[in-house]
Amino acid sequence: MKYVRYEYEGRIRFGVLEGDRVAELDGDFLFGARKTGSAVPCKDVRLLAPYIPRKIIGIGANYRSFLDWKKKEYPDHPGIFSKPSTAVLDPGGTIVLPDPSHTVNYEGELAVVIGRKAKNVGADDAMSYVFGYTCINDVTDNTMMFDEDKKWTRGKGCDTFAPLGPAVVTDEIDPEDALIETRLNGRVVQHMSSSDMYFHIPALIEFVTKYITLEPGDVIATGSPAGPGPLKPGDAIEVSIEGIGTLANKVG
Ligand code: MG
Repeated sequence: MKYVRYEYEGRIRFGVLEGDRVAELDGDFLFGARKTGSAVPCKDVRLLAPYIPRKIIGIGANYRSFLDWKKKEYPDHPGIFSKPSTAVLDPGGTIVLPDPSHTVNYEGELAVVIGRKAKNVGADDAMSYVFGYTCINDVTDNTMMFDEDKKWTRGKGCDTFAPLGPAVVTDEIDPEDALIETRLNGRVVQHMSSSDMYFHIPALIEFVTKYITLEPGDVIATGSPAGPGPLKPGDAIEVSIEGIGTLANKVG
């Protein structure tokens, strides 16, 4: 299933993508919503971020290709950070660069959407807590993060720094071997399978839930493959993941 959230005739609803139509749901897809029987053409709706998570947990430097590219040592545990829900941006929305002198990078990533409350979950059982997957662009102001603040909250958390979507998919993806491709103004800048992750999804869920309770709709951004690079005003940035679709945004 490919679940979406959309605006149609001024109302926001959840739905299911079915070819070139969206089938309306009677509520939140995470909590057993059913189809109402109504459907509308995709071209008539505006797709929104498929969910507004209560929190987004990001994983820093979690791809072998990224670690090798940055000549970093392989970590002994996942390095985690968070992005506030107010950073979420809809597909098609405009990423706002806070300061023209700053280096703000795209980071195309596979996002895990949690389906039920998860605390102290073991890796063996972790996948049963996953509802589905979507694309996230972990937009990052490196100037704030590394030069100004020496902390990550502002550089990761600015408004519009978490483009999310276009759909949450359940069965259409092999999360352990999904191709992630990022395109900047049509040029491929990241191209890597999720199999390149250093800590895989079950290990990430085990580590995070040892410290932080994950709730339905919460998102884990699983890390960026090699190749993040800077954005500038007027850019078009797209994150495509095999089985999910393309998350396309503009830069303002
Ligand atoms: Mg990242």
